[in-house]
Amino acid sequence: MSQNHQDIRDSVVALCRDFPGQYWRGKDRERQYPTEFVRALTDAGFLSVLIPESYGGSGLGISEASAILEEIHKSGGNGGACHAQMYIMGSVLRHGSDAQKQSLLPGLASGELRLQAFGVTEPTSGTDTSRIHTTAKKDGTDYIINGQKVWTSRAEHSDFMLLLARTAPREDGERPHDGMSVFLVDMRDKIDQGLTIKTLRAMINHSTTEVFFDDMRIPAASLIGEEGRGFRYLLDGLNAERILIAAEAIGDARWFIDKARVYAGERKVFDRPIGQNQGIQFPIAQAYADAEAAALMQEKAASLFDAGEPCGPEANMAKLLAADASWKAADMCLQTHGGFGFAEEYDIERKFRETRLFRVAPISTNLVLSYIAEHVLGLPRSF
Ligand SMILES: Cc1cc2nc3c(=O)[nH]c(=O)nc-3n(C[C@H](O)[C@H](O)[C@H](O)COP(=O)(O)OP(=O)(O)OC[C@H]3O[C@@H](n4cnc5c(N)ncnc54)[C@H](O)[C@@H]3O)c2cc1C
Repeated sequence: MSQNHQDIRDSVVALCRDFPGQYWRGKDRERQYPTEFVRALTDAGFLSVLIPESYGGSGLGISEASAILEEIHKSGGNGGACHAQMYIMGSVLRHGSDAQKQSLLPGLASGELRLQAFGVTEPTSGTDTSRIHTTAKKDGTDYIINGQKVWTSRAEHSDFMLLLARTAPREDGERPHDGMSVFLVDMRDKIDQGLTIKTLRAMINHSTTEVFFDDMRIPAASLIGEEGRGFRYLLDGLNAERILIAAEAIGDARWFIDKARVYAGERKVFDRPIGQNQGIQFPIAQAYADAEAAALMQEKAASLFDAGEPCGPEANMAKLLAADASWKAADMCLQTHGGFGFAEEYDIERKFRETRLFRVAPISTNLVLSYIAEHVLGLPRSF
C-alpha cells in the first residue's frame, strides 16, 4: 500500500470517529439523510478525488477512492449516501461537452453542486435495461421527458440526475440497446414542473425514491455525447462502480470480522470465551480468508483500471466475491453474537441489512455470473 493510501485511510478513519454507531443508528431509525457526514466528507475533499485537478478535484485514481469507501464501511458507517457523487460525474468527464464539464465539474469539486442520482432502473424493465420505457422526444431546442424510474437513490439530495431515456424505439435499432441516450438533468427548477420525486421506504436507510416525469422539458444541451449511444456511455462507467462497491463490501466484511473477533474473545459462556470453541473460531477464520481473497481481486481490478487496462472480468469478480464475503461475514457476526446481534445498539443488525444490498444492487450476483460465463468463459449466451 502506498504512503498516499495510508495517509488517506488515516484521515478517513479520523473523520469517521466523529460519526460513531450512535449517529448511524439515529439516522437509520429516523430514515434521515446523513447530511453532517456528507458535509464533512465533502469539506475534506474526499468526494472529489476522481475529478481532475484542472477542474478543482484531486485527480486521484480508483485505488484511492476505494480506500476512502472501504474505510468508511470498516468504521461502521455507510458510503451509500454519497458514493455516487464520486463516480457518476465520470460520464460527463468522458463524454460530455466542454461547456458541460466547465459548468458542472468545478461545482462538484467544491461541493457546491451535487450529481449523485442515477436514473436507470424502471419498475417494468428490471435488469433488462433495453426495455426501459422512459422517452426523450426532441421538440425544438428542448427534449420532453415522459416516464418513470424506480430505486433512484439520493434524488432528493442531488441537484442533477444522470438519466437514461429512449430517444428511438427498441425495434428501430440494430441491437436492443441502441436508441437510448443519457441526459444531465438539472432538477433544481423541475420539481412540480414535470418532475415528481417520491420517497421509497426500504429495508435500509438509502434515501431511495421513485421518480415520475410528466412532459418534463429540458434543454437539448442536456444531452451527453451523441443521441442513441447512451447505453455504451453507461457501460463505460460500470467497472469503476463495481470496483468501488466491492471496496465498500470489503470494508463491511472487515467490520463484521473485527466485531466478531473481539466479542468472541470477551464473551464467556460455560466459563470460557466462546472464541475458544472451534465452532465459533472457524467461521470467523473462514470469513477472514474470504474477505482477504476478495480484497486481492478488488486491488487487482483497481490497479488495472488506474493503469488504463481492460478490467471487466476483474471488476465483476471483485464485486461478486466482495458481496459474498461481506454477506457471509455478516451472518457469521450475527451468529457469533447470539441474541445480542439483534440488539440495535450493537449496530450488527443495521450493517447486516445494509450489506445485503451488495448481492442485488447495483448489479445482482446472477448477472455478474452471467457476464463471467459468457464474456470470460465463452459459454453460450443465455438471454
Ligand atoms: C436500495 C437500492 C438502491 C438502488 N439504487 C439505484 C439507483 O440509484 N439507480 C438505479 O437506476 N437503480 C438502483 N437500484 C436498482 C438496482 O440496480 C436493481 O434492483 C438491480 O439491478 C436488480 O434489478 P431488479 O430489481 O429490476 O431485478 P430483476 O431484473 O427484476 O431481477 C430479479 C431477480 O432475478 C434475477 N434474474 C433476472 N434475469 C435473470 C437471468 N436471465 N438469469 C438469472 N437470473 C436472473 C436477478 O439476478 C434478480 O435476482 C437500487 C436498488 C436498491 C434495492
